[in-house]
Amino acid sequence: MTKKSKIIQTSGTRKTAVARLSLKAGTGNIRINSVLLENYAPEMAKQKIEEVCIFGSHILPTCDIDIRVHGGGVIAQADAAKIAIGKALVEKDEKVKEKILAYDRQMLVADTRFKETAKPNCHGAARAKRQKSYRWVYQITWLIIWGKKMIIPIRCYSCGKPVAHLYEEYLEKVKSGKSKKQALDELGLERYCCRALFLGNIDAIDVTGKFKKF
Ligand SMILES: [Zn+2]
Repeated sequence: MTKKSKIIQTSGTRKTAVARLSLKAGTGNIRINSVLLENYAPEMAKQKIEEVCIFGSHILPTCDIDIRVHGGGVIAQADAAKIAIGKALVEKDEKVKEKILAYDRQMLVADTRFKETAKPNCHGAARAKRQKSYRWVYQITWLIIWGKKMIIPIRCYSCGKPVAHLYEEYLEKVKSGKSKKQALDELGLERYCCRALFLGNIDAIDVTGKFKKF
């Protein structure tokens, strides 16, 4: 076997794209997944590969290159192919290495960066600010006692103070003749937000009670 007919095999990677190259004696055809480089699309990917070929202008016309590339996106595939070609050129001619490294290190050395993994609750973005919501707390923590038509959230919407367990006591106090204000004061509900919950609810019960009488 002469030196010319020796097959050179190299590989290149970028992100999840993997390119495997075989170089043998030929007439200057470069194929990527069976497609000639002249016809390779998109243009951006084609140019990336052609860029590295400039360094092999004295080698490539007497070679055929066949590249199999899979995984990743089109640009990552082109980068992977670029690295594979760069390595193959260096194997053919050691002097090319210096030139390529001086021009663009990425033509020989794989860029090991990957897409940053998305985090949960981030809608696919890697570093988006988490959006917190406590709405679900309110949605599932209604305390409903049938027969009394009582609908009180377990916690106050505004301040988060637990209030539902106080409601029955509040009703007792009101029924025994105390004013609503006095009942609320005795239960330790000072903030207006919590008071409003109770006041709104007792009014609703009064109304439904009136309807029942007739
Ligand atoms: Zn409150």
